[in-house]
Amino acid sequence: MKTFNIIIFTVIISLCFISCGQKQSSHTEFALGTVCSVTLFEQSEKSIYNEVFSRIREIENLMSVNIPSSDISRVNAAAGTEPVIVHEETFKVIERALYYAEFSGGAFDLTVGPLVSLWGIGKEEQRIPLRQEILDALPLINWRNVELDRQKKSVFLKIKGMSLDLGAIAKGYAADEAVKIIKRGGVKRAIIDLGGNIVVLGEKKDGSLWNVGIQNPDKNRGDVIGFLQLTEKTIVTSGVYERFFEENNQRYHHLFDPSRGYPAKNGLLSVTLITDISMDADALSTALFVLGYEEGKKLIASLPGTEAFFVFEDRSIIMTDGINFTLTDKTFYIKNIL
Ligand code: FAD
Ligand code: MG
Repeated sequence: MKTFNIIIFTVIISLCFISCGQKQSSHTEFALGTVCSVTLFEQSEKSIYNEVFSRIREIENLMSVNIPSSDISRVNAAAGTEPVIVHEETFKVIERALYYAEFSGGAFDLTVGPLVSLWGIGKEEQRIPLRQEILDALPLINWRNVELDRQKKSVFLKIKGMSLDLGAIAKGYAADEAVKIIKRGGVKRAIIDLGGNIVVLGEKKDGSLWNVGIQNPDKNRGDVIGFLQLTEKTIVTSGVYERFFEENNQRYHHLFDPSRGYPAKNGLLSVTLITDISMDADALSTALFVLGYEEGKKLIASLPGTEAFFVFEDRSIIMTDGINFTLTDKTFYIKNIL
C-alpha cells in the first residue's frame, strides 16, 4: 500500500498577508490535532495568546475523541447504555451539529465515529475496510439516534457501538471562541487559523482587505490557486488532500458519505465556505463536500450571506457571486459564478 504521511502542517488554506510596516505578533501551537496560529496586528497583551490557547485546550478536553475523559468519549463509552451529562458548551456544539445533520439531509452526520475508526485515515492503521465491516457499521451511523435532554444537558446514543465525532465542527467553534477573546482584548485586526479554520478580523493597516489564498489541492502547503479578498469573515475548507491515503491509484480521504460508508466521491477536490460564524462554515464545508455540487448549491442558495467556492477534479471552479477572487494558477479556470 502506498501510504502518504499525513502532513500535519498542511493547513487547508494558506494565509497570505502583506506584513510590511505592520506591527504584528504571532503565536502557534499544536492543538486539536493540527497547527493552530493566531496573529495580532496591533500592540497587544501577551495574555491574549495565553487566554486563546488555554480556551482551545479547554474545548479540546471537552470534545476530543482522543481524550478518554472528554465529554464526547464519555458519551461514546455509554452508547446503548445510558445518557451522559455533558458540559453546556459540548451540548451546544452537539445541538448545532444535529441541526446541520438535519439541514444537510444527513450528509453531515456527527455519528460518523464508527467510520472514522474503521478507516483510520491519518493513523498508522489506516486501511480499506472489508465490505462486511462497512455494512456492519452503517446501521450505527444515524444522527436521529442521538437523544438530547435539554433540561439535564444529557446526551444518549441509542445503539451500542455508536460514536460521535465532532471533527467537522468543533474547530469552527474553537475559532469563534478565539475571536471573542481577541475582540474582548480590544484587538481589531487579527488572523486566526486553526488548521484551516480561518477568521480574518479588520483590515490591513493601509485599509485594504486581507488576501486569503485557496490551497491548490494538488500541491504542497502554500501553493495557492488564487486569492480571496475579504474582511471580518471566516473561511473554512474541506478537501480531499488534507488527510488521505492512496491504494491502487485510488485516493481514500477523510470526508465520508454516511449513507455509503466510503469517502465521498463526486468530482470535487475542495469546498470553501465563507460566512460570519466559523462553526457554521465548518459544518457546512463538510456537508457541501459530501453532498456534492448539485445538492450543495441548493443549500447555499437558501443561506443568505454565505458564500461557497467549489474546486473540481477537472480543474474548474464554481463560486457564488459574493466572492472577490483572483485566480493566479491558470491551470484552473472559473467555469461559472452562481
Ligand atoms: P472537516 O471537513 O471539517 O472534517 C472532517 C472530519 O470530520 C473527519 O476527519 C471526520 O473526523 C469527520 N467527518 C468525516 N465525514 C463526516 C461527515 N460526513 N459528517 C460529519 N463529520 C464527518 N486529529 C488527530 O489526528 N489527533 C487528535 O488528537 C485530534 N484531536 C482533535 C480534537 C478536536 C476537539 C477536534 C475538533 C479535532 C481533532 N482532531 C485530531 C482532528 C483533526 O484536527 C481533523 O483533521 C479535523 O478536525 C478535520 O478537519 P478538516 O478541517 O480537515 O475537515
Ligand atoms: Mg468541517
